[in-house]
Amino acid sequence: MNNAIITTDDFVTKQLSMKRRVLIVDDEEINRLMLKNTLDDDYTVLLAQDGREAFETVKNVKGRLSLILLDLHMPVMDGYEFYELLQKDADFAKIPVIVLTSEKEAEVKSLKMGVADFIPKPYDVPEVIHARIDRIIQLYEDKNIITSTQFDTLTGLFNREYFLEYSTIFDQYYPDYPKDVVAINFNRFHVINAVHGREFGDRILAAIGKAIKEYVDSSKGLACRYNADLFYLYLKSADHEETLYRMINDTLNSILGVSDTHVRIGILKNADSESDVRKRFDLALLACNSISRNYNLHIAYYDDKIREKEQFEEILIRDLDSALEEEQFRVYYQPKYSIQADKPILSSAEALIRWVHPKLGMISPGAFIPLFEKNGLIGKVDRFVWRKAAEQIAAWKQKYGIKIPVSVNVSRIDIMNEGLTDELKEIVAKAGISPKDYFLEVTESAYTDNQSDIFSIVEGLRKEGFTIEMDDFGTGYSSLNMLTSLPFDVLKLDMVFVRNIHTDARAKKLVEFILDIAKYLNVRIIAEGVECKEQYEILKEMGCDVIQGYYFSKPVDSNDFERFIEEGLNSEVKQ
Ligand code: C2E
Ligand code: CA
Ligand code: CA
Repeated sequence: MNNAIITTDDFVTKQLSMKRRVLIVDDEEINRLMLKNTLDDDYTVLLAQDGREAFETVKNVKGRLSLILLDLHMPVMDGYEFYELLQKDADFAKIPVIVLTSEKEAEVKSLKMGVADFIPKPYDVPEVIHARIDRIIQLYEDKNIITSTQFDTLTGLFNREYFLEYSTIFDQYYPDYPKDVVAINFNRFHVINAVHGREFGDRILAAIGKAIKEYVDSSKGLACRYNADLFYLYLKSADHEETLYRMINDTLNSILGVSDTHVRIGILKNADSESDVRKRFDLALLACNSISRNYNLHIAYYDDKIREKEQFEEILIRDLDSALEEEQFRVYYQPKYSIQADKPILSSAEALIRWVHPKLGMISPGAFIPLFEKNGLIGKVDRFVWRKAAEQIAAWKQKYGIKIPVSVNVSRIDIMNEGLTDELKEIVAKAGISPKDYFLEVTESAYTDNQSDIFSIVEGLRKEGFTIEMDDFGTGYSSLNMLTSLPFDVLKLDMVFVRNIHTDARAKKLVEFILDIAKYLNVRIIAEGVECKEQYEILKEMGCDVIQGYYFSKPVDSNDFERFIEEGLNSEVKQ
């Protein structure tokens, strides 16, 4: 094995000094040996006597071959069949193949099939064969590696394509070492851009890129900025994680000071045992994302738990369409009560989805909503809920003679859909209800993510008569300045603010302050996640308009919800 010390920058120059692998496939031993002799000094030569044996070899070395020399006529599996088999695998198909043949016809046929070149039998002067082979290898490596730019201009690290190619070459350099993939990503990096501007965000990324480059250079590895604030490292296996974490955290803090942007590190150990290069990086990223909601954890390994979660998610994605068809989804309703009168009055409900899976049982939205939001499938689920909720409003109106407004959740992706307004108008019209009784919950972070678009879309929906509730308020980083110009009718205060108001004076003060803002903006406020009497009483005293939470009820199915309607009606009659 070549033990030369290689840094990222050396890669291009030292590439040629390593011994590449060449596979010779021929059923005649004499032919195999002749070629082997010619190439032995400069290449690691592997031998196979038919197509099947050759394919086993290709799989064993995970396709890390620089060239295949292929005879066409062989027993068991001939050259044509073997070549076809190679083309079926994206990685194997990249290996250049030179055909060894004595027939003119076969030359044409094989070139048409896409082989790189042919060498006529009987064999020519060894130097000519050698030169021909060198040239093809060089040509293919150049073609595969040299894309228009190799480096990410902001950080000086490899760009994505170049990095993927080099990871494969890295495997060839160090075939005997296990490797690790490290994914580095940040929580709330977009907040830095939003608050300090893009240029400042770029400065931080450049500094982090520099730190990563120093690290991979000293540990003889590779790194790239894959996109935005996501970095990948490919390294010989060792205890990298703690050092990397400290280094990046220090870099971040030295520029940013104290902030709630955190670095997350995901690791796939023995990454090279996974033959699909892209998949290796995906798995490290899965590990990295597994801690995106847990601010106390900074390092995560790809392990059985994540693998199981991934498989679970695959099942959910696979089953979504049939679940919609078979109506496995149920819409639950959670009451919202106006609390400023003597007695709480049922004012509306929030529609919340549940999935009753025939094999997995009841699945809570926390398990599938973020997943479907990520892959864009959420629209299908939302539309189902929108339709059901509209029909439910109509049904209650019919049954009780009163209108119970229902709010539905509108995902970030729905907002970007041009036909949204028309679609919602059609849904309410079809159910025979008014947009006035149909509330739309739009999460605060959707406002901060795509400001200019959301302005006009939400404003348009309001003009049509829909009421807009800004959901999860307090988690999405709206600035005060922004709040005054955003279009919405109601603020839904996220439950994290409510949780401690009865035990922590500062938490209470904060809610008081938010209520003042709401008053100033002239919007109503709903407090979510109210669980106990103390919280309820404090909120009532502070002047909060509406509350939603387990204190009144968990979300329940439409039948059970009717109890709240009937209670309300009875108390009205009594009054
Ligand atoms: P959300 O929109 O913030 O909905 C409120 C969540 O808080 C619901 O969880 C509700 O059951 C829960 N909750 C209500 N009161 C309390 C309380 O007093 N204490 C506690 N601890 N929790 C309370 P759920 O139904 O599990 O929904 C979770 C999230 O899933 C929702 O958060 C929403 O973001 C999403 N979701 C649910 N249904 C849909 C849907 O149809 N479409 C979309 N896009 N998202 C949905
Ligand atoms: Ca909601
Ligand atoms: Ca919410």
